[in-house]
Amino acid sequence: MKIRLHNVVKTFDTFRAVHGVSLDIGSGELVALLGPSGSGKTTILRMVAGLEYADAGHIYFGDLDATDIPVRDRGVGFVFQHYALFPHMTVAENIAFGMKVSKIRRSAAEIERRVFELLGLVRLDGLGNRFPGQISGGQRQRVALARALAVDPKVLLLDEPFGALDTNVRRDLRRWLRSIHEELGITTLFVTHDKEEAMDLADRLVILNEGRIVQQGTTEDICRAPNSAFVMNFLGDANRLPVTVSADTVDFDGVRIPADGVPDGRAELFLLPGDLAWQPSGPGVPASIVRVIDHIHARRVVALSQGGQLLEFDTPPETVIRAGDRGHVEIRKAKVFAS
Ligand code: ADP
Ligand code: MG
Repeated sequence: MKIRLHNVVKTFDTFRAVHGVSLDIGSGELVALLGPSGSGKTTILRMVAGLEYADAGHIYFGDLDATDIPVRDRGVGFVFQHYALFPHMTVAENIAFGMKVSKIRRSAAEIERRVFELLGLVRLDGLGNRFPGQISGGQRQRVALARALAVDPKVLLLDEPFGALDTNVRRDLRRWLRSIHEELGITTLFVTHDKEEAMDLADRLVILNEGRIVQQGTTEDICRAPNSAFVMNFLGDANRLPVTVSADTVDFDGVRIPADGVPDGRAELFLLPGDLAWQPSGPGVPASIVRVIDHIHARRVVALSQGGQLLEFDTPPETVIRAGDRGHVEIRKAKVFAS
């Protein structure tokens, strides 16, 4: 089922949370809505679910205008971070719940068979008789997904479903969710403020800021060509430096950086840590090392340029580098945005 949002607006009292959002999600696609807290992600998801009504604009499910269709008739399944399981029901009863209250009549045997199938799908075989309090947080979210899938939704809506879990569990769950998505092919809208999670999971990213879509595209499109200082900053963990553009060029401590099409005057230079390299004898911006931070796969290095700017970059762990060393930071790639 493809979904289309056309100029959707939502205002709470006097505060406009969503400003004319238009968005197409192809049938079977997994799209991540990504943005900082308060950017309108949950509000958009709730409007697609039918838990909230748009003030203006339209939401189409396939060719049907679903804008005013109530939630229980939309055929959506959802999982929210805090959409808790029923604690007094077993895992199997939780999964069966939607089928029991649905308008579509199913026999007890049919429900039992479907619960068994779903337990297998979410890899919780044999845990049907446990209560939510007797399984881990990651397992609970898998039960929540099984419950959402039980009614054969045409659309799956997930709002930070792994938000409360540990990093390693989250990574496993997103691999798992991706494989389930590949198996079932249900059109899925996944909301998160976590860029790693969004990039890991989604076919396509839609980036939101203050209730507006600021960029959308494949992960590759967006990572290679962020279209604004906001997107670069949000995704990149970038060094962000004030500079002056003159004749399509920035001079950074003697290194010339192209800034094609950026008007003369004040601008911001964005340097990703992976696009910088340490060159003891140049080329690059003269600098001294302030601090070396070891990580498992790499080292993050903090340097101070001759002109007094702090620059962070990554080196392989075997690079010999110490606080106090002098040398040059080579700029392999840079992006300049007018400020
Ligand atoms: P996100 O999910 O991206 O963090 P939300 O969609 O929850 O953002 O919220 C977007 C904005 O709308 C926020 O500023 C939030 O405070 C506001 N908002 C959301 N729901 C309501 C509500 N029911 N009443 C008033 N303001 C709301
Ligand atoms: Mg939210």
